[in-house]
Amino acid sequence: MTTPTVTLTGIQPTGELHLGNYAGAVRPLARLAARPPRETYVFVADLHALNGRPDPEQLRDRTRKMAAALLACGLDDDRVHVYRQSRVPAIAQIGALLTNVTSKGTLNRAHAYKALVAANAAAGRDTDHGVNMGLFTYPVLMAADILAMRADEVPVGADQTQHLEIAVELARAFARTYRPGALREPRAVVAQSGGVLPGLDGRKMSKSFGNTIPLFAPPERQARLIRRVVTDSRRPQDPKDPDSCTLVALLDTFADSATARDVRGRYQTGGIGYGDVKALLAEQLHTTLAPLRDRYEALLADPARLEAALEAGERHAGRRAAETLRLMSAAMRL
Ligand code: ATP
Ligand code: MG
Repeated sequence: MTTPTVTLTGIQPTGELHLGNYAGAVRPLARLAARPPRETYVFVADLHALNGRPDPEQLRDRTRKMAAALLACGLDDDRVHVYRQSRVPAIAQIGALLTNVTSKGTLNRAHAYKALVAANAAAGRDTDHGVNMGLFTYPVLMAADILAMRADEVPVGADQTQHLEIAVELARAFARTYRPGALREPRAVVAQSGGVLPGLDGRKMSKSFGNTIPLFAPPERQARLIRRVVTDSRRPQDPKDPDSCTLVALLDTFADSATARDVRGRYQTGGIGYGDVKALLAEQLHTTLAPLRDRYEALLADPARLEAALEAGERHAGRRAAETLRLMSAAMRL
């Protein structure tokens, strides 16, 4: 039997999952997870979210919904382990051990911290204004997330590669100081560019831009949002460029391929107006998402089943992290 590849991804419960997250992160992960031999670990990063000081009730609610969404999007196979980061305490323990092989200089150079320092400096404030230690040590906890599960590969966006480099750096520092090979060095699997889904205003769909279509918003609300997608002023009979149109990008991603192809053809001949494309998109989106939405709603309506699914993931992840912690502790003679 070949040894399975261990894949790991985390997602912060900082808001509602949107179409861009689904197309750019969740769906590719579900497809990857379905390619054996592979064990996939997916966690809701509730500990990471704490550095943004969220309202506790809201954090709990978002964590629950994010977990249900991941399970509903096809990450519910028995080779996929979905868990809440905070429910696998060995991860935080591993993080505490790793702080001792982390140089402060490395964290000083981490992007998220550096960006805040720069913003403070520009505003003439103390450079560490508003920086808590959760934010400053974020890369250490992220290294712990990855190293705890002895992950081989970590799918990341281009903006996350630095954190992965830090995880490799800490694994090497631990190996040098305590025991060669004690921790597995992960590699980044960087998502191909070009996979960026535009939002309502044509910029990248992003929570920060407030231009998203939430994945599990009711269909009527999604249809309303689609009607707000910005288009140019070409009339139905005018030829249009499909490649610069947000509606076509959304159709390419969420409609069946024959429909998307047909619309592309009618753009070039001036055979369709934006209003009709919007109606068609809303309908196609509804059809594509209906099975996922049903699973999502069923999970939220049955808290015991959701809890049981997460606890199964947490037992599995907990055993794996405990084994890593044991190896580290033995190397450190604890
Ligand atoms: P924020 O505005 O807070 O950065 P976001 O909406 O960009 O939030 P993230 O939490 O940064 O979402 O991203 C989660 C995952 O979804 C990442 O893997 C990211 O690459 C992917 N993703 C986010 N937006 C898009 C998009 N518009 N197209 C494709 N993938 C996306
Ligand atoms: Mg982002």
